[in-house]
Amino acid sequence: MKLDIIIPTLNEEESIINLYNEIDKELNDIKYNIIFVDDGSTDNTLNILKDLYNKDNKHIKVLSFSRNFGKDAAIHAGLIHSKAEYAVIIDADLQQHPRYVKQMLNYIEEHKEYDVVCMVNSYKNDNIINKIGKHFFYKIMRKASKQEYKEGASDFRLMKHTVVKSLISMNETNRFTKGLFSYVGYKTHYINYTPDKRLYGKSKFKLRKQISYAIDGILNFSTLPLRFASVIGGTISFASFIYFIVILIKTLVQGKDIPGYASLMSILLILGGLILFVLGIIGEYVSRTYIEIKNRPIYLIKEKIGYDEDIL
Ligand code: UDP
Ligand code: MG
Repeated sequence: MKLDIIIPTLNEEESIINLYNEIDKELNDIKYNIIFVDDGSTDNTLNILKDLYNKDNKHIKVLSFSRNFGKDAAIHAGLIHSKAEYAVIIDADLQQHPRYVKQMLNYIEEHKEYDVVCMVNSYKNDNIINKIGKHFFYKIMRKASKQEYKEGASDFRLMKHTVVKSLISMNETNRFTKGLFSYVGYKTHYINYTPDKRLYGKSKFKLRKQISYAIDGILNFSTLPLRFASVIGGTISFASFIYFIVILIKTLVQGKDIPGYASLMSILLILGGLILFVLGIIGEYVSRTYIEIKNRPIYLIKEKIGYDEDIL
C-alpha cells in the first residue's frame, strides 16, 4: 500500500461524504487506505462511516473509540494501524483540502532525502488575538523545550513509515502531537497553505481549549516552569536576607523605629501568592506524573471495521 490517510473524526456527519468524494477525485491513481478514527462521535458519524465501508471496502477502514479520547489519541490510533509506505493526517472538515495530499506526495517522491512534508498554516483566516496568541506560543515553546518549532506547522503532514514508527514508539499518555513531531525530528519540507473555511459543523477547538492545549504543550515538553519557581524562590530569599540585615542595622545601630503594618501586610500577601503559585506549578507536574505512572491505555477501541488482524 502506498498511502494511509488518517482522519480523526468527532461529530462530522455533514462533511464525511464530501471529504470521501474529494479524496476519491484527487487520489484515484494512487493505492491508498482511509483510516477513519471515530473519536466517540455522538451524531450519525459512525453510521455514515459504516455505510461508506459497505460501499467501498477496498479503501475504507474504521476504528471506533469507546468514548471521546481527543484528537491526539485518535491520531495515535491511526498511526499505530498504519502499515503503508506513507501516512498522512488530515482533518475531517475539509478545511485541509485533499488536493494538498497529492502535492505532498509528489514532493516526497521526487525528493527522497525528505522524510516528512508538512503543511504550514498561514493564519490568514485567524483573527488578530489568535494570531498573536499562536505567535507567542511558538516563541515560548522554542525557548522552553529547546526543540525546533516551525511557526504554523500543522498536523496536516505526510510522512514516511520510519517516522510513523518513531512517533508510536513514544507511549506517553498525555500526547501533545505537535511536540512529538518536533521531538522525533527528521528532514522536513514545509509548504505554506491557508486552510479553507469550515463549511459544515463546528470547530472543536474554541479559544479556551486552545489555551489549555498550549499550556499542556509547554508542561509536557519542558521543565522550565520548575526552574522558574526555584529562581523566584532563590531571588526572594536572597533579597529578604539583605533586607533583614538592613532592618537589623537600622534598629540596633541607629535605633530607628521601623514602620509596620502596611509594609508587613504587602510582603505577606505577595509572598503568600507566590508560594501558592509555585505550589501550583509543582502540582501541575505531580498530577501529570500521577497520570503517566498509571499507564492507562491512550484510547479504547469499541469496534474495528475493515481489519482482519487483531492489532490494538
Ligand atoms: N477531532 C477529534 N477529536 C476531538 C476534537 C477534534 O477527532 O476531540 C477532530 C475533528 O473531527 C476534526 C479535527 O480533529 O477532524 C480537527 O478539529 P477541528 O476542525 O474542530 O479543529 P480546528 O480546525 O478548528 O482547529
Ligand atoms: Mg477544522
